[in-house]
Amino acid sequence: MTPSSDVIDDAPKPTDSRGSEATGAATVSATLGGEQKRSVEQLALLLFIIVPFLALIAAVPLAWGWGVSWLDLGLLVFFYYLGCHGITIGFHRHFTHGSFKARRPLKIALAIAGSMAVEGPLVRWVADHRKHHKFSDAEGDPHSPWRFGETLPALMKGLWWAHIGWMFDEEQTPQDKYAPDLIKDPTLRAISRQFVLWTVLSLALPPLIGGLVTMSWWGAFTAFFWGSLVRVALLHHVTWSINSICHAVGKRPFKSRDRSGNVWWLAVLSCGESWHNLHHADPTSARHGVERGQLDSSARLIRWFEQLGWAYDVRWPSRSRIDSRRNTDEGASRHRKAPAEAA
Ligand SMILES: [Zn+2]
Ligand SMILES: [Zn+2]
Repeated sequence: MTPSSDVIDDAPKPTDSRGSEATGAATVSATLGGEQKRSVEQLALLLFIIVPFLALIAAVPLAWGWGVSWLDLGLLVFFYYLGCHGITIGFHRHFTHGSFKARRPLKIALAIAGSMAVEGPLVRWVADHRKHHKFSDAEGDPHSPWRFGETLPALMKGLWWAHIGWMFDEEQTPQDKYAPDLIKDPTLRAISRQFVLWTVLSLALPPLIGGLVTMSWWGAFTAFFWGSLVRVALLHHVTWSINSICHAVGKRPFKSRDRSGNVWWLAVLSCGESWHNLHHADPTSARHGVERGQLDSSARLIRWFEQLGWAYDVRWPSRSRIDSRRNTDEGASRHRKAPAEAA
């Protein structure tokens, strides 16, 4: 498979054949674990997935038993969308795809905001995602739900893999090959290496605010529960749903060589990322929800950043560019197995 034009232009294109990811002599690692995920890191990852998830399950009776204050809810929503947009605008549209250029302060703010989503270090996130676009739903894709085949049991297994399982894979995306542009930048490399710091900050800020506002330990505790644990769990599952659900179901109005779909009901929670079929059809576009009524809060914020002069050279998709990517050929219907959804 030839390298696609999904990654930003100045990033050197991977040269070796798919599947054989020789790590080679890694230059400077941008994550503490380097290319190998060590067992400690695997365990930490497992805890990060399980603990917030248990918290989410416990959330329902707790909500009835204790009630949830407006402050807790406010912290949850604020930190949810801070991390979400850090990922979608920063990690994804800016750092991975170069869909706009950012002034230095915005670039750094986006790198930190994205790190606070607790989805792994910046450089690893970007490397994995560029590899996902290079091989999307073919061999070499780190998280395709079609990995195990097309039957229903295989898809069920694949959905689990795409949602969570892939993160435990021993095989790591070589960062010096897929994200050399980020590794080259000392500040971004430092932010990426300080992932633990951003995680602690992300989890500690809500209880700190909650405790100070209510002047009570109980206020700090409920703020930690809702603003940190439940918030992280929810954002994790929504982000992973882009890898699993948005590659298995949804409408496919645009041409892409994979199974990416537009899933309308995830648009608000995913900050506009669930218009995933358009994204794979035109990966450098700063806007994913290109049709009328397709909510894309990330694109809206990029527009505001542009008006403020913080973002420039934004790749807004023109009408003709969008139209040229529409699915018209018969072959595309092969992929339309999923139940049709209302837009
Ligand atoms: Zn995708
Ligand atoms: Zn992408």
